Amino acid sequence: MYRKIVSLFLRNPKRNSGDETDYTCERIVRCLSLSMIVVASGLCISIPFFSCIKIEGMKRFAGFDSPRYMQNLGQLCRTDAGARPWEYIVIHHSATVKGNAARFDHYHRKNRKWEYGLAYHFVIGNGSFSEDGEIEVGERWKKQIHGAHTANMACNRVAIGICLVGDFENGGPPTENQLESLVSLIQYLSRKYKIASSNILQHKQVHQKCTACPGKNFPFAELKTRLLQIASKGSGHVQEL
Ligand SMILES: [Zn+2]
Repeated sequence: MYRKIVSLFLRNPKRNSGDETDYTCERIVRCLSLSMIVVASGLCISIPFFSCIKIEGMKRFAGFDSPRYMQNLGQLCRTDAGARPWEYIVIHHSATVKGNAARFDHYHRKNRKWEYGLAYHFVIGNGSFSEDGEIEVGERWKKQIHGAHTANMACNRVAIGICLVGDFENGGPPTENQLESLVSLIQYLSRKYKIASSNILQHKQVHQKCTACPGKNFPFAELKTRLLQIASKGSGHVQEL
């Protein structure tokens, strides 16, 4: 096809005069036109191609049972110490609009005077001071130290604390990215430490009269449904325990 186009453009036209300069200019213009057609054709072919790559990459990263994502969680949840006998997972909100693990760690060390800093084992960002849906790992998890996320020390010794940045009592619900990351993290931890579905709790279920955490707008029922859907597909163990 390109040969035909080239021959059409470079064919010697019938000239009325012998003005060689005009003819040279005409050929340059034709060559430029041909180049533009070739470039435009290339773009038409390549745009859909690159679009497919981008969408496919996003799907792979966001998939709950994607090997790539599970591998990341495996690396993320690696510990420097032997595992504690974890029995519960307790979900919190930060009750702040913004934040990240470093900021909460600073507050817990300086204001609360907690030796090990950050009260939670994991923090899931909302895009304010960390990425939307980013899972940050605290030192307590790395060293397998008890949490400080509930007022009940017996609970803290056996409960993994996960905090989502945001105020879900006075503000809206968590972002979709936060929820997806939370589902993935709970699914991974509950499988690894054989934590029963009934032991995945909201903070207010531990202290019913003392706190609204993680807030009335936290979609706990939806979270449980998503976890059970994944378990029913055979990629998790939440339903079996
Ligand atoms: Zn809480």
